[in-house]
Amino acid sequence: MEPKSVLQTHDLYKYILDTTVYPSEPEPLKELRAVSDIHPNSFMGTGPDAGRMIQMLLKIANAKKTIEVGVFTGYSLLLTALTIPDDGKIVAIDMDRKAYEIGLPVIQKAGVEHKIDFIESKALSALDKILENPDNEGSFDFAFVDANKDDYINYHERIVKLLKVNGIVAYDNTLCRGAVAQPESCIVDLFNVPRENTAMLKFLKAARAGAIEFNKSLAADPRIQMCLLPLSDGLTICRRLY
Ligand code: SAH
Ligand code: CA
Repeated sequence: MEPKSVLQTHDLYKYILDTTVYPSEPEPLKELRAVSDIHPNSFMGTGPDAGRMIQMLLKIANAKKTIEVGVFTGYSLLLTALTIPDDGKIVAIDMDRKAYEIGLPVIQKAGVEHKIDFIESKALSALDKILENPDNEGSFDFAFVDANKDDYINYHERIVKLLKVNGIVAYDNTLCRGAVAQPESCIVDLFNVPRENTAMLKFLKAARAGAIEFNKSLAADPRIQMCLLPLSDGLTICRRLY
């Protein structure tokens, strides 16, 4: 599958990455992209342009305590670990430890594993468990959500409680290659999926429907200020207002 972008041409996306991201991308992140290539779903890794935005947000917010929902091989996780201070902490949740272990040696080599608390679990139950401890409420500076899109609304309910006032959460893939603004049938062409790959089609249809429902509900959520950027596959940034 082609890299994830809502831009009209692959050349333009490549131009943005080649010109503005790759020249200053830290070496461990390049390495992590390289080792992730062995995974059949390597297209799921966070777009390096979205990654750069996340890095800037972490710095601007002075983030120290963060949470990530949807780790995969760890591109966004390593990026966060490289960006927050040495005594910073990241709670990282994914039900797939195997994918995490593909990137783990790179994370270890970069000397940032001590900042990571990896939780192998379905995200919803892990978030509920974290919320059982009242000390966690309103304690996170930053969150990145990139797991199954049909649960984004449910993750958002938990994340808003976990964030500090003025804390920031970023949600990935909120434009679903532009499919949010087109009929469901467009998925075949937009993602170039063979019609016989019914599992992938089902996955993408759920992602599109999840993103549509999520975007609408966020825009009406008085607790946050939001902004949907057409970076990568759509990156929504929210700030907790109260
Ligand atoms: N941020 C990652 C990409 C995440 S891909 C990166 O930068 O590479 C999506 C991940 O969400 C996958 O690893 C998948 O295992 C995980 N995931 C999907 N549904 C989940 C769920 N219900 N609970 C926990 N993790 C889930
Ligand atoms: Ca993603």
